Amino acid sequence: MEQETKRILIIGGGYGGLKVALGLQRQYQGNAKITLISKHDYHYQTTLLHKVAIGTLSARKARIYYRKILNPQKVEFIKDKIKKLCPKENKVIGNGGEYSYDYLIIGLGFKPDNFGISGVDQYTYKLSSLNAALKLTKNIENKFKEFVHTKNPKDLQVIVCGTGFTGIEFTAELATQLDELCLICGIDRKIPKITCIGRSKHILPVFNENLVQTAESKLEALGVEILSSATIKEIQEGKVIVEKEGQTQEIYGNTIIWSAGVKGSDIVENSEIPNKKGRIKVNAKLQCEDFPNIYVVGDCAVVASKDAIHAPTAQLSAQMGDYIAELLCAKLENKAFDKIFKFNHRGTVCSIGHTDGVGIVYHKNVKGEMAAFMKNTIENKWLYSIGGMDMVLKKGQFRYRTSN
Ligand SMILES: Cc1cc2nc3c(=O)[nH]c(=O)nc-3n(C[C@H](O)[C@H](O)[C@H](O)COP(=O)(O)OP(=O)(O)OC[C@H]3O[C@@H](n4cnc5c(N)ncnc54)[C@H](O)[C@@H]3O)c2cc1C
Repeated sequence: MEQETKRILIIGGGYGGLKVALGLQRQYQGNAKITLISKHDYHYQTTLLHKVAIGTLSARKARIYYRKILNPQKVEFIKDKIKKLCPKENKVIGNGGEYSYDYLIIGLGFKPDNFGISGVDQYTYKLSSLNAALKLTKNIENKFKEFVHTKNPKDLQVIVCGTGFTGIEFTAELATQLDELCLICGIDRKIPKITCIGRSKHILPVFNENLVQTAESKLEALGVEILSSATIKEIQEGKVIVEKEGQTQEIYGNTIIWSAGVKGSDIVENSEIPNKKGRIKVNAKLQCEDFPNIYVVGDCAVVASKDAIHAPTAQLSAQMGDYIAELLCAKLENKAFDKIFKFNHRGTVCSIGHTDGVGIVYHKNVKGEMAAFMKNTIENKWLYSIGGMDMVLKKGQFRYRTSN
C-alpha cells in the first residue's frame, strides 16, 4: 500500500540543502513531512570563512541558526551528524538514529582534498568549516600575542598552499590586517611574512589575464610573496617542500594553510552510491541515475551533461537548491515538471581584503572598491534570500566594519 504522507529528507544545511528546505517551506502547501538534518544548529556562509579565520568576521555574526529561519510547522530541523547512507533501504544513519525517506536530497558539501600528499592532514589548517576557521583564528592570534616571548620569526611566517579563490581571499584578508596585528602586539611590521604557493603560472586561474595581473600586483603591494609554477611534494611540521623548475625548495613557516583543492563529502565517498571522490553524477534533473529517489545539490553533485559542467560554487549550489524545491513541489502535488536544471552564471568576485577585489560580473571585469561592493552585494543577496532584510541588517557585509 502506498504511503500517504511522503517523507522528504534533506541532509546538509549549506547553500544547496538550505535552499531546498526554504523553497519547500515557501512553496509547498501539502502534508508531506519535510526534514532537514545538519550537523550543527547553524548555517554559515562558507564564502566568508576566510574572514572568520582572520577574526574580521566574528563567529557570532557568522552563525545563522536554522530554527530562526525554518518554520517547524513546515520543515522539521534535526541536528545530527550523518554517518552512513543506505540507498537500497531508503534510509540514512546518523549519530542520533536512523532516518527513512521517500525522497532524499544530499547536500553534504565538500572536504579538503589532500591529493595523497604526505603531511597535509597532520600539519595544515583548513578553511573547510566554521570550526576549522576558528581554530585557525586562535592559532594566528596566539602566534602574534606570544611573539613577545617566543621571538621565533617562523611563528609569524604563514604559508598558504593553493592560489585559487580560497587561498587568495585568505591571503589578502590576512595581509590587509597585518599592520593592525603588528601594532596591537608591538611587532616590527617587517617580521611577518606570507608566502602563497601555487601550481599554475598565475593565481586565480578562473580569471582573465587582466584581472590576474591586477590581483597579483595588489598582493605584491601588500607584501605577499607568490611562488607560482611550484608543485608541493610534502608537508612537514613548520615547512613545505616544493619542486620548482626541477629544483627542490623548502619554505618555512609555523602556520600552514591547505587550500589547494576540495572534493565531495566523505560520507558520499564511502557509500554504495556510485561517485568520484564524493561527487555523484546526476542527470539534468539533478537526480542520481542509480537511485532515482535521490537528488543531489551543491559540491556533492556533478551534472553529467557536457554543456553543464561548472566549478562547484555557492552560487551553483543555491540555484540547484531552488530548482530541487520547485521540482519536488511539483512531484508532491502530482504535477508535470519538464524543466531541466540550467545554471545562470551571474559572475564571480574574489575579495582582496575588505575594500578591494577583482571579478567578473555579468561578463564585465570589476576591480577595486567596485569589486568589493559587488562581493558584499552577493553575500547580502544570499542573506536576503534566506531571511529577508532583517537578516541582511543583522548579518550583512557593508563597506565599513564595526569590529575594529
Ligand atoms: C573559504 C571559501 C571561500 C569560498 N568562496 C566562494 C565564493 O566567493 N563564491 C562561491 O560561489 N563559492 C565560494 N566557495 C565555494 C562554496 O562555499 C561551496 O561551493 C559551497 O559552500 C557548496 O555548498 P553546499 O551546499 O554543497 O555545501 P556547504 O555549503 O559546504 O554545506 C554543507 C552542509 O552539510 C553539513 N554537513 C556536512 N557533513 C555532514 C554530516 N556528515 N552530517 C550532517 N551534516 C553535514 C555542513 O555542516 C553544512 O551545513 C568558497 C569556499 C571556501 C571554503
